[in-house]
Amino acid sequence: MMPPPLGLYLHIPFCRQRCDFCAFYLEIHREHRAETFVRSLMHEITLSALQHVAAKRPVQSVYFGGGTPTALTATQLTTILSDVRTHFSLTSDCEITVEAHPSTISEPYLVQLRQAGVTRMSFGAESMEDGELARIGRPGSVSETVTAMTQARTAGFTNINLDVMYGLPGQCVESWQRTLAHCLALEPTHLCCYALTVEQDTRLASKIQHQRSQAPNEDLQIEMDEAAQRILSDAGYERYEISNYAQPGYACRHNLLYWTNGEYLGLGPSAQSYLDGTRFGNIADLTAYDASLAASRLPIEDRTGLSKDEQLRDAVIFGLRLIQGIPTRHLHQHAANYGHAAVTAKLLAQQLIEEDGERSRLSARGRLQADTIASLLF
Ligand code: SF4
Repeated sequence: MMPPPLGLYLHIPFCRQRCDFCAFYLEIHREHRAETFVRSLMHEITLSALQHVAAKRPVQSVYFGGGTPTALTATQLTTILSDVRTHFSLTSDCEITVEAHPSTISEPYLVQLRQAGVTRMSFGAESMEDGELARIGRPGSVSETVTAMTQARTAGFTNINLDVMYGLPGQCVESWQRTLAHCLALEPTHLCCYALTVEQDTRLASKIQHQRSQAPNEDLQIEMDEAAQRILSDAGYERYEISNYAQPGYACRHNLLYWTNGEYLGLGPSAQSYLDGTRFGNIADLTAYDASLAASRLPIEDRTGLSKDEQLRDAVIFGLRLIQGIPTRHLHQHAANYGHAAVTAKLLAQQLIEEDGERSRLSARGRLQADTIASLLF
C-alpha cells in the first residue's frame, strides 16, 4: 500500500512591518536575526528528518508561509529548499509554493526561485484599490502587484495565486467587483478571497474601538462573497473551499491536506504539525526557537495524541469548509460521539450547515461564521 502523502510547511516569521489587521506570530525583519533563524531552521530540518519516522515518506508539497517568506533573500530561501531536498524525498511533481509580498521581490529574485524548483507563487494583493490598502495599514501598492505578476510570468511561473480580502473599511460591493475584475485581468490560476475578521489586540481592533475605522458588516460580506462566487465561476474558476477558487487542476495541493485531515510536518517558530494521529506545535517565540535548536532540541512545545473520535471530529470540522463537504453520516456520527446532537440540529435549522442527502457543508452564511461553528462542534 502507498504511504499517505505528506506535506511540509516552513514558517518564515519575518515581515517588514505589521499590517493593521494581522494577529499572526511574526517579527519585524532584521538581517542578523534572519541569518540566525535560517541556521536554526536548517538544523530543525536535519533533526526532524532524523527523528520523525513519517519524514521517510514521499513529500507531495512544500509550502513556505509566514510572515513574509520573501523577507528573506532568494539565496536564503533556495538554500533552505536545497536542504529540504537533501533530507526529505520530494515527489517528482512536488508542489512547492512560496508566499510573497509583491513589494519584496524582483525579476532576478523570482528567476532564482524558479530555477531552484519553486513551482507556485502566492502574492498577497489584498485589494486592487490603493485607498483600501492604506485603510488597513497594508504596505505596498496595486502597481507593485501588477508588476509582480508580470515578473513572475517572465521568470517562468505558470501557477500563481492572488490573495484578496473583502469587508475592508470603506470597501463597497462595486470596489470589490473592481478588485476581482482587475485580478482576473492578471489571469492568476488561483484566488484566495478572505473575509476580513477583526482579531483582538490588532491595530485595526483598536481603531474600530476608537471609531477611527469601520467594523466589517456581515450582510455586506455575504453580498461580496456571493459576488465573488458569481464572478469567479463565470470566469471559469471552481470554488473548492470557503475562501479558495482555482482554475481546473490548480487547487492548492498543500492546503487541501489541511481540510482533508491529511498529514503535514510544520517547521519554524509557531508551525503546527499533524502526523500519525498526533498534533504538535513549535514554540511561538523566535529567541526560544533559536535557543532550542542551538541545543539540538526540536522546539516542540505541545503534543496531543488524538483518539479515533477526535480524528473524526477534526475531519468533520475541517471538511465542512470544503464545497464538496463531508459525508452526512460523519456529521451525525460526530454529533453522537460528542453529545452535539442538539447543537448540530440547531445549526441545520438555522441553515448554517446544509445537507443534501449524502453530503453536508457550510451554507453561505455558515461560511462567514466558520470559526464559531467549528468551536460549537469541537
Ligand atoms: S504581510 Fe502578512 S503576515 Fe506580514 S503583517 Fe501583513 S498580513 Fe501579517
